[in-house]
This record gives sequence, C-alpha cells and structure tokens, in this order.
Amino acid sequence: MTGYFTDDQHDVLRKEVRDFAEREVRPRIPEMEATKTVHHRLSRMIARQGWLGVTIGREYGGMGMGHLAKTIIIEELSRVSGSMGAMVQASQLGVAKIIHFGNAVQKKTWLPVIASGRCLPTIAVTEAASGGHVLGMQTSAVRDGGDYILNGHKVFVGNSHVGDLHGVVVRTGPGSKGLSAFLVEADRPGFTLAPQQSTMGLHGFSFGELLFNDCRVPATNMLGTEGDGLAVAYSSSILYGRSNLTAVSLGIHQAILEETVRHASTRVLYGKPISELDNIKQKIGQIQSRLMTARLTAYHAVHLLDQGMPCDAELMNAKLVNVESALDSAREAMEIHAAAGLSTDRPIERYLRDAFHIFAPAGTSDIQRIRLAEEALGRSRGQWSERIVGGEPIGVA
Ligand SMILES: Cc1cc2nc3c(=O)[nH]c(=O)nc-3n(C[C@H](O)[C@H](O)[C@H](O)COP(=O)(O)OP(=O)(O)OC[C@H]3O[C@@H](n4cnc5c(N)ncnc54)[C@H](O)[C@@H]3O)c2cc1C
Repeated sequence: MTGYFTDDQHDVLRKEVRDFAEREVRPRIPEMEATKTVHHRLSRMIARQGWLGVTIGREYGGMGMGHLAKTIIIEELSRVSGSMGAMVQASQLGVAKIIHFGNAVQKKTWLPVIASGRCLPTIAVTEAASGGHVLGMQTSAVRDGGDYILNGHKVFVGNSHVGDLHGVVVRTGPGSKGLSAFLVEADRPGFTLAPQQSTMGLHGFSFGELLFNDCRVPATNMLGTEGDGLAVAYSSSILYGRSNLTAVSLGIHQAILEETVRHASTRVLYGKPISELDNIKQKIGQIQSRLMTARLTAYHAVHLLDQGMPCDAELMNAKLVNVESALDSAREAMEIHAAAGLSTDRPIERYLRDAFHIFAPAGTSDIQRIRLAEEALGRSRGQWSERIVGGEPIGVA
C-alpha cells in the first residue's frame, strides 16, 4: 500500500484507523441516521484515540505526524462515516489557530488536552447574513477593562454541539484590520447553543449555531493581537479547511467505489452480473479514474504543505477536484444502483447526501475556480502556505 507520498508509518496508521472505523463507527451508523443528531459518545471515543493531535507537536503530547497523516485519518473515517470524518476535520480547524496564533500559555494550556482527546476545539467564522463574505461579519467584541464582551451569533460551526473550546472571530473595529479572534470556553456565561437543526446529511455531526449574549471573555483569551482575526480565519480555512474537507470527500469517494463494485458484482441480469455490461464497466472505470486523480491531488497538496512548500493553488485544486469528482461519482453510482440505490437500507444514497455537504465549507467550487484564475492571471496576493513555515504566527497579509 506504501505509495509515492506515503511511507510505512502512514500504512500502519491507515490500518489502525480503518480497523477502528469498521469496529466502532460502522455499527453506529443506523443509530446516527435514525436520530439525525450529533453523536456525543462516538465523537469523544474518536477524540480519545489521539487523532485530533496528529498535527500537534510531540512536545505538547501530539502525534507530530503532519498533514498527510491527518488526511489519512480523516479519509479512513469518512470511508465509513462522512459525519465522523467531518467531526475530526472540524476539530483540526480548531487546532490550527492555536498552533499558529496561540501564545506560549495558550499552547501549553490547550494543545495537550486537545491531543489527548479531552477537549474538542472549533473555529467559528460564518454568520447568517454574511456567509462566505468574512469581512461582512457583525458579531462584535468590545473592550471592558481586562475583558472583552462578545455579542452576536455564528452559524454552521463544525462541531458546534460537541465543542469544548470555540475559536471565535469577531469584529473589534472597522475594515479588514478590525477582526480579532478569541478562545471561548463552552461553559462561559453568556454563551449558548441554538437547538440543532435537521440537515440533509452528515447525521452524527453538528454544524450549528453559537449565540453570544454579553459573553465576557478575558483579554488573555485573544489569539494573536487585535486585528489578527482575518489571518486566523483565512489561514485556518485555506491551509486546514481545504485539505481537511478534501480528505472527507476522498473517503466518501472511496466508499462510493467499493459499494458500487459490490453491487455491480452481485446484481444479476441476463444471467450474469451487471458488472459485465459494457456501459456499467465504463461507469465503474470512470469512477476509478476520478478517485485515482482525486487522491493524487489530495496527497500531493498536503505533502507540499508538510514540506513547508508553497501550495495554496494545490490545496484549492485538491478541494475542487475532490468535491466535484466525488459528486460526479455519487451520481453515477446511483445510476448503476438504479431503484435499489434509493433505499435507505443501502449506504449509497447517504454517500450522495454527505458528499454534498462538503461543497460549501472552506470555499465553494466557484470560489476555488475564481482563486485559481487569480493565480493563473498573476493576481494572487501571496501564499498562506509560505507564511506558516516554522509554525510562526502568520500575521495579516
Ligand atoms: C458541513 C459544513 C461545515 C461547516 N463548518 C464551518 C465551521 O467549522 N466554521 C465556520 O465558520 N463555518 C463553517 N461552515 C460554513 C461555511 O464556511 C459556509 O457555508 C461558507 O462560508 C459559504 O457561506 P454560505 O453557505 O452562507 O454561502 P454564501 O456565502 O451565501 O454563498 C452563496 C453562493 O454565492 C457564491 N458566492 C459567494 N461569494 C462569492 C464571490 N465572492 N464570488 C462569486 N460567488 C460567490 C457561492 O459560491 C455560493 O454559490 C460550514 C458549512 C458546512 C456546510
């Protein structure tokens, strides 16, 4: 299994995560699909494997294995359950901001508890009115002595209902230098959660609403300095969000191929499996081809990230290729299954629903294409991937 980018350590990790996912996650899928709500116990159980700490250095109790290993963990969980892959990817977003913007005390306080699975972090940027327009946000923090007082609300926050530590980007002043980021513990007075809304898929995961009503947060909870909020949001989204969501798509895509091959090999028409029909072979070959290309783009991008090389375009392309090709393959897989694919007793319709959830976060496909066009036209404004080398604070561009 060792490939061009992966080594023996990655293979051992993959087997460990795959065995866990088959043993502990797969049996719980019917429950998650039936209740359509967040699965607290399973989320905690996964966190306790230490996998949230895969990019956290060993000096903080993390695995120190980097982004390719992180991709493999998320991919293998998503192969069984997109929602649990999404849970790990969202936690990883929460890790990014502490690694790159946390001060020594914040790192010492939070990274070890995240690495051990006792704390699930999030990143909360999106608001209902502003969506992907980060600078349009209105949730505010106003200085009051040694504290800041937060008011407003955030939506679609990954791990909203299991998170222990929210990384919240808010407005502290006007313009692009007027955003700042704070660590907000989930038990802080003035912080509440809106009830979880029903969604099309990713059942078991939560991406809900955080409410801040005169929520008092010590100034020492600020990440970086006042004005670093935009950099916290962008770097988390571009460097971690795109690669993490790529990995979720990749795992779902792998599951689509496996399930489709299984079905086409056992569904008999005209006295032979439908996998013998030319058009079905064409479709399976196309899914296989897309998956191979998708995996290459995913692994290549995070390999560059691990090497500290510029790779913003590769990360965008990996998200674009993985999301779009998993959706294309999901549709083709549904066509191969025909009426059988509509049954909720089978997983194939779940893969289609879950794959769609990966489209919006960390930039829709339109946004990735626009950014790639800017790169091609020579109009890109520097690479976030270059600025995180050495784990130093990134600073606003
Ligand atoms: C599963 C999931 C997990 C998520 N996790 C998090 C999280 O952990 N933290 C968090 O803060 N948010 C999270 N989000 C929210 C996510 O970041 C937003 O969905 C995203 O920013 C887009 O916002 P929106 O959905 O409101 O779409 P909108 O911003 O309303 O976009 C609507 C449409 O307009 C297009 N559009 C928008 N801007 C432009 C532009 N400049 N040029 C051209 N077209 C444009 C978009 O492509 C899209 O088709 C998550 C969302 C999902 C679905």
